[in-house]
Amino acid sequence: MTTPTDRDPTLAARDPEIAALIRQEDERQRDKMRMIPSENYASRAVLEACGSTLSNKYSEGYPRKRYYEGQQFIDPIEELARDRIKALFGVEHANVQPYSGSPANLAVYFAFCKPGDTVMGLGLPHGGHLTHGWPVSITGSYFKSVAYSVRRDDHRIDMDEVRRLAHEAKPRLLFCGGTAYPRAWDFAAFATIAREVGAVLVADIAHIAGLIAGGAHPSPVGHADVITSTTHKTLRGPRGGMILTNATHAAAIDKAVFPGLQGGPHEANIAGLAVAAKEAATDDFKRYAHQVVANAKALGRHLGDRGFSLVSGGTDNHLLLIDLTNKGIAGKKAAKALDRAGIELNYNTVPYDPRKPFDPSGVRLGTPAITSRGLTEAHMEPLAGWFDEAVRHADDDAKLDAVAAEIRSFLRDFPAPGILV
Ligand SMILES: *Cc1c(COP(=O)(O)O)cnc(C)c1O
Repeated sequence: MTTPTDRDPTLAARDPEIAALIRQEDERQRDKMRMIPSENYASRAVLEACGSTLSNKYSEGYPRKRYYEGQQFIDPIEELARDRIKALFGVEHANVQPYSGSPANLAVYFAFCKPGDTVMGLGLPHGGHLTHGWPVSITGSYFKSVAYSVRRDDHRIDMDEVRRLAHEAKPRLLFCGGTAYPRAWDFAAFATIAREVGAVLVADIAHIAGLIAGGAHPSPVGHADVITSTTHKTLRGPRGGMILTNATHAAAIDKAVFPGLQGGPHEANIAGLAVAAKEAATDDFKRYAHQVVANAKALGRHLGDRGFSLVSGGTDNHLLLIDLTNKGIAGKKAAKALDRAGIELNYNTVPYDPRKPFDPSGVRLGTPAITSRGLTEAHMEPLAGWFDEAVRHADDDAKLDAVAAEIRSFLRDFPAPGILV
């Protein structure tokens, strides 16, 4: 007699090669100080929803307006996701179908622009995102784009320049938001400028959605016409994207996502997002969001004490950008040494970087993932110490391995959500 497991073996039995690699990745995520600021640990509950049979289902369209039958359980799942996200951010409309942050932004272009229209966003080398009109992106090749920048002296966005460029270029879309900007966004000031020039203001909160949900960063709601985001960064949900807006733009956004840009939504991830939105509505999550920022500020102070040069002098959010020029080491070399030492981050350009983007002057790091494990301000001093040691001994593999072992053993006291090994 065959058992269910004979007919439909476990992953480990069916494909030991993939199973072993996933297990190794589990262990890696368990053993390292994961400090890439766009990453996090989704909870076990979120991961379970993502790995479910919902992945088998096609559901083109929107709840109660589908092109396929069998939506009895899919519709309430997507409705729960939408309603929870609407309540969490206090918006009139949420589209939870974008496959990720980049397609969410592309849908906004499709909703409001014709090819050749002008858009404006923070330049990539100054902390903006590719999809805000950077030349190598589809958004920079199908649309005319104008980039604003941060000031040379204090690395803050120059709102006078934003206003001047906006009045000159009259963009259809004005993006605010970025991937490597350690300071708070003044959404009200952007809204004033967008109104002056008749632009649609798009707040891309991919990095800071969780901070906003938890009250640790000002919200763009009431200022931006459209809000786009990923769901897997500080929000701690599954990989995905979403677009939040008001009743005025709801229909245009929905039409742009489907049938404009995408086919069947990934309902397993949408279920994961519903779970994450439920988690993010708790007091625990509010404490988490504030702790993320407190940790980043504390780490910034301790790194500053050790002579590291922080872009903009510090942080208001979850991330730090460090210019390593004064330490005599390039960003990529430092990132590789730190990774070996158990501190995972990415090399990054700094504003007005004289070096090339593939080998820039800085590194970018953040506290969302380590805060999900329960690290607090008190742990930031030893962390800064390990960081400093790794950068100072970047050529000494034995030293780097010793730091990695210390970190691995330190992290045993901080179990990571979703990691069961
Ligand atoms: C991460 C990010 C995106 C893109 O999200 P993906 O899910 O990687 O496509 C878009 N905008 C900003 C500001 C981001 O930080």
